[in-house]
Amino acid sequence: MVGRPNEMLPARRPVVAVHVAVVSRGLLGDLPEPVVAAAQVLQQQPVVMVVLAVAPEGVGRAVAPLEGVIPEVVDAVFLAAIKEGRKRSAGHIRLPENESFTVEYVTGKSWSGYNWYLGNARSRVDLNTDLPIYAYRLTDLLAHEGYPGHHTEHLLKERLYTEQGFGEHALQLINTPECLISEGISTTAESMVFSPEELAAFRREHVYPAAGITGDPEREIAINAARARLSSVPSNAALLLHEAGADPEDVVAYLQRYGLSTEAEARQRLRFISDPLWRAYIFTYDVGRELVLNWLGAGPEATRRQRYARLLTEQMTPSQLVASV
Ligand SMILES: [Zn+2]
Repeated sequence: MVGRPNEMLPARRPVVAVHVAVVSRGLLGDLPEPVVAAAQVLQQQPVVMVVLAVAPEGVGRAVAPLEGVIPEVVDAVFLAAIKEGRKRSAGHIRLPENESFTVEYVTGKSWSGYNWYLGNARSRVDLNTDLPIYAYRLTDLLAHEGYPGHHTEHLLKERLYTEQGFGEHALQLINTPECLISEGISTTAESMVFSPEELAAFRREHVYPAAGITGDPEREIAINAARARLSSVPSNAALLLHEAGADPEDVVAYLQRYGLSTEAEARQRLRFISDPLWRAYIFTYDVGRELVLNWLGAGPEATRRQRYARLLTEQMTPSQLVASV
């Protein structure tokens, strides 16, 4: 369950603190350092920038119920993506027979998806339909929340409590060091089970025909790769809002300009980073991803997968990952 701020454990997040300081220093200049780097990348790829800034809906039509695809079809597409994610994860991670998760559609949330771990290898994944869910993001979203992301991590780490007696694994607290690793696991989840070529083929052969939509998988993957360079923009937006005292409307404009978000997406992000529970959590995504990617390294795939499996099953701290890169 989610811990409220006044129930949290004392902060012990040296890695987060270091990265916040680095990002924060960038704010002292004209633009945060990561944004300058991202803008330079995008200037070299004008097509990508135009597509993201002008027509994100052209990348892939939404498969959310709100977008006119009938719910039965949406469910079938989700199911196919979940099944594929599970099959690929089970190829190198041992999953118990009885595990499963359900998907519910919700509204009025500041996040896009949430994994509620229910215990006994079961989860409920809530997907927020306030904003369109894009077809090209489907595999990432379900890998993040399901296989081999949050659901997989929680069910495997439940054993740390049930079999090894680690009481701290009996509950999940927000804004703790484990969140950094958990989001690092989940933001890299899709790439651990799909190579870019496999991803393109799966979308072209299974996701788009099943949903009755068209898309350009290779182009979308290239766009996403470029957009990954912008992953620190939401964290910088939080610093703009809370540390620099920027006007919320300026933060929305910042997210649109440098994060290439639509106005609706930027306002949802503002809501997230304004929430007392989530405003510090925003750093877990980009910092956690960097932490985990560094630890996984650039070695052979077998080594990376072995390390990823350790993250899913062992009690590890951010400091340990930093120390053992
Ligand atoms: Zn997550």
